[in-house]
Amino acid sequence: MSSISHILIAGGGLAAQRCCETLRARGYDGSIAVACAEPVAPYDRPPLSKEWLAGEPVDPALRPPGWHAEHGVELLLGRAARRLDPHRRVLELDDGERLRYDRLVIATGSRPVALPGLEGFENVQPLRTLADAERLRGALAAGGSLAVVGAGLIGLEVAATARRLGLRVTVIEAGPAPMAAILGAEAGSRLARMHREEGVDVRVRTTVERALGSARVEALELVGGLRVPCDHVVVGVGVRPATAWLEGSGLDPAAVAVDELGRTSVAGVSAAGDAACRLDPLSGRQMPGAHWESAVRGGTAAACGLLGLPAPAPAIPSFWSDQYGVRLQCVGDPRAADGVAFAGDPAGRAFELTYMRGGRTAAVLLAGRPPAALRAARDRIDVQSHDHPRSIAA
Ligand code: FAD
Repeated sequence: MSSISHILIAGGGLAAQRCCETLRARGYDGSIAVACAEPVAPYDRPPLSKEWLAGEPVDPALRPPGWHAEHGVELLLGRAARRLDPHRRVLELDDGERLRYDRLVIATGSRPVALPGLEGFENVQPLRTLADAERLRGALAAGGSLAVVGAGLIGLEVAATARRLGLRVTVIEAGPAPMAAILGAEAGSRLARMHREEGVDVRVRTTVERALGSARVEALELVGGLRVPCDHVVVGVGVRPATAWLEGSGLDPAAVAVDELGRTSVAGVSAAGDAACRLDPLSGRQMPGAHWESAVRGGTAAACGLLGLPAPAPAIPSFWSDQYGVRLQCVGDPRAADGVAFAGDPAGRAFELTYMRGGRTAAVLLAGRPPAALRAARDRIDVQSHDHPRSIAA
């Protein structure tokens, strides 16, 4: 159905998996190879901070063993892309092997931002990969105290899971409230209250001054002098696209911009998922991926682009998070808002925040509502409200 016969995907996570599935479902019968730095077949990351981390018997694998062989997808696991020569259409792996392609899809996801001063300690870690999660699960099983630096989505989920397992937990956040930069002050203060009710020591408007200890951190000293004793530390202060390896390729290693079909500015090269900055049809801005749904959509769109199919319908961005059995679902871009309306029980955990911009609905945050409520919320978003995003005022 097309003249392409060798598709190579760098990175083997959610976006790569969806790209493979769409290619096969839409009739592509040429070769597909996936080169992934991690030594495991594509798996889902959300359980790694939730059920899986808590020790529940969930399998994060995206497809059963054998799926890739059955669908003619060659997995090159434990092999990272290190250089791209788009003129020769060659991807070089970290073991020196050079792979030729007709089309390349960059799907290398994102990498956690490290905190200077906390690097090199035995008991400090990020949470991105299954290996990170295995390490953290072991640490949580030992009990004791956990310090979480950064009250973003992953930090808060780790804090909630660690409390469920009975650890003493301190969350350290530079901003005025958890997730305030994304969800605003109202949602942030509700999240802070929920975590405090669950026994988390939430410290906001503060940062780590220094780590005390030699090989292991024994305590974190915060600005102002407070010492937080800890057996283990999780750093969750954000992610950046894992695209540094594109240096010298002609693509910007800091932000790989793509169109609605995942195509980059370089011939024969597409990108998807957290590694790509997608053109957001609502705002016209290039937005980096950072959530599950955009990886699914990006992988699908890239496959459509490779096959010359029309782009899937544009979608309003959304993400979810689970903390203490409360599902948070956000649709739209709350950062575009100039006001917030609250509905629900002021003292409870089930509520709805409607983020307005210029009198129109820009985003909706649902807490403790069934997943189906997201569909109704999505219908309320007014596309024009996203024209000129700026900082949230709430
Ligand atoms: P990834 O899934 O990160 O896959 C990229 C793969 O490429 C990785 O295996 C990586 O090792 C590999 N790679 C990196 N560099 C190279 C290289 N040079 N060469 C080859 N391979 C490379 N989103 C939500 O919406 N809701 C949630 O509740 C939620 N929970 C999350 C919990 C955790 C713990 C994490 C880490 C993320 C969570 N997310 C959540 C985000 C979501 O999982 C990601 O947005 C999604 O996984 C992105 O998919 P991806 O395919 O772009 O990247």
